[in-house]
Amino acid sequence: MSRLTPDIDLNAEGKATGFVRVPHSVHRSAYGWIPIPIVRIKNGDGPNVLMQAGNHGDEWEGQIGLGNLIRAIEPRDIKGRLVILPSANFPAAMEGRRTSPIDEGNLNRSFPGDADGTITQQIAYWIEHALLPGFDYAFDFHSGGSSLTYIPSALAPRHQDAARMEKVMGLLKAFGAPVSYISAAPQGGGRTFTSASYRQGVVGMGTELGGGGLVTPGSLKVAEDGMRRVLSHVGLLQGPVPAPTKTRFTEIGGDDYYVYATDGGLFEPLVELGDEVKAEQPAGRIHFHHTPWREPEVVTFKRAGLVLCKRVPARCERGDCLFHLATDLVV
Ligand SMILES: [Zn+2]
Repeated sequence: MSRLTPDIDLNAEGKATGFVRVPHSVHRSAYGWIPIPIVRIKNGDGPNVLMQAGNHGDEWEGQIGLGNLIRAIEPRDIKGRLVILPSANFPAAMEGRRTSPIDEGNLNRSFPGDADGTITQQIAYWIEHALLPGFDYAFDFHSGGSSLTYIPSALAPRHQDAARMEKVMGLLKAFGAPVSYISAAPQGGGRTFTSASYRQGVVGMGTELGGGGLVTPGSLKVAEDGMRRVLSHVGLLQGPVPAPTKTRFTEIGGDDYYVYATDGGLFEPLVELGDEVKAEQPAGRIHFHHTPWREPEVVTFKRAGLVLCKRVPARCERGDCLFHLATDLVV
């Protein structure tokens, strides 16, 4: 049994705002709890939809977009049930960090979680076993966070089940991000929210909306317009929504789509997001702090593709992801 308890009924009619309580006994608060904000909006029968952001605390577009959605949508605007968890790893969001300051937990590598584990493991357990069951659709709004920036994208892993894949492609098309991508092997191997949704039989989609630890009007518009279009697409949101936008369908295959730092130093990118690159093309240079007279290390792309993601901070260590590519989806 999960130790977490929402202080609102997630299945009742109407609109309610409240908190999921995570018991947390600490020096300044012996019987205290961590308040994870949660909202339910319900109007009769219809699809059951869960929208989540702040799975990583330093990814802001989804958190702001869902806040705006919460204040804008009333029960009369929908048919069905919408539950919104805008800052899933709330302690991480409050610190503006990818991981929790309490236990260093990365929520999106913590599923299926542990009812008796660390705070982050307890949150993952509650989301997978108490929250997710019963939803038809689940959306998880990520961005690049502090260390990466993306062309605003929507994504899903490749599913073997053709009917499920068709539903997912419909969601990506409706969301209408500039780029959509299908990943052959999702990051995190079974420990992500996407995997949790899959295990609970919920159809879902994720995003990488921008990143760099900041928000732009453009990336927020992709988030907000997309949220409304997918809610309309699944039959929950009634009335007009922003006009459809065209998405470029791409895929990410294996390790050769990624470029990693081969040494520590200062990363100088040689290409920008949106560039089309060739195999063996120089991707960046790594300069050496201590020995600036030494020639910088040149890292190259292993294959051709579209530059979808780029590292933000100049300082890098061996093993840091500098870029990843996408290629047009072959169907
Ligand atoms: Zn993330």
